[in-house]
Amino acid sequence: MVSILEGLHPHEYEHPFDAKALDSLQGTAGLEILSRKFLKNGIERFYTIQCRGSNLQVTSSNYAEIYKQLVDVCNVINVEAVPDLYIESDGSINAMTVGVDNPLIIVTAGAIDHLSQSEMAFLLGHEIGHVKSRHVLYHLMAGSLAFAGGVVGDYTLGLGNLLTMPLRWALFRWSRMSEFTADRCGLLACQDFDNVVSTFIKMAGLPEKYRDQIDRQSFIKQASEFESLDFEKTSKWLKLASSLNRTHPWTVLRSAELIKWVESGEYQQVLDRQTVDRLRIRYEGSFQFCRRCSYRLQGTERFCNSCGQELRPSNQIL
Ligand SMILES: [Zn+2]
Ligand SMILES: [Zn+2]
Repeated sequence: MVSILEGLHPHEYEHPFDAKALDSLQGTAGLEILSRKFLKNGIERFYTIQCRGSNLQVTSSNYAEIYKQLVDVCNVINVEAVPDLYIESDGSINAMTVGVDNPLIIVTAGAIDHLSQSEMAFLLGHEIGHVKSRHVLYHLMAGSLAFAGGVVGDYTLGLGNLLTMPLRWALFRWSRMSEFTADRCGLLACQDFDNVVSTFIKMAGLPEKYRDQIDRQSFIKQASEFESLDFEKTSKWLKLASSLNRTHPWTVLRSAELIKWVESGEYQQVLDRQTVDRLRIRYEGSFQFCRRCSYRLQGTERFCNSCGQELRPSNQIL
């Protein structure tokens, strides 16, 4: 049984590496100009039109079963505006999101063929996670780096020249880190870690022939072995990453990050809605303040004594 996470906000589950990488990306010279050019030249519109024109649309009357799943996932992770959904005729298991103002999600036919309902909830939840955290613009920018100097570079009339090396790396690094946040959102959507692991195994390329023999334990063991790699400090993994050409590489690494989150107990705290206070309380050193009115809090109250804002859910034990 999947529980509805009322009022779920990305601050409750955002991966700290994502936030950090975003900070440094936003501090990198040239990002602003690049973003403005990107939007002005209609590159993101180009992606959107291309997707709408070449894929099958899923609606409440067309492939209604898939549409219902999308609506259910949106409901679980607190998304009111259900994004448009399209199916791409591609046998691999994948999904992506385009469209900054009106996001639309594309899932491959392979994903629909090979994923169970719960696995699909993870995949859709992951994509909606990108929408919730407003990742789409920078993602599209990072995605077009792959073609910089090529198709998109020409199309954008010199956009490639704006992509300095530091900016390129910052975008790339952030786009990878943002996957960790989206994975957490995906897990919150399907609420079944085993099904997340089996999705990763299928995405990692498990041959069709062995789809009935999924060995989650050995995959988890493989993922856990990555823990010794401190990829916050080393740039080695970035180099490895840049040599891979796939949208969602390193399923193993992503699983490792998700395992850590589950084991830390934070995932359960979000499910139990104990993380709601992260939105309402600002922590500064050992002090706490009401985010709404900046009143200094004792740290134990349920409501702000100054503005009356509820600070903590009633079921939270202090
Ligand atoms: Zn993603
Ligand atoms: Zn207040």
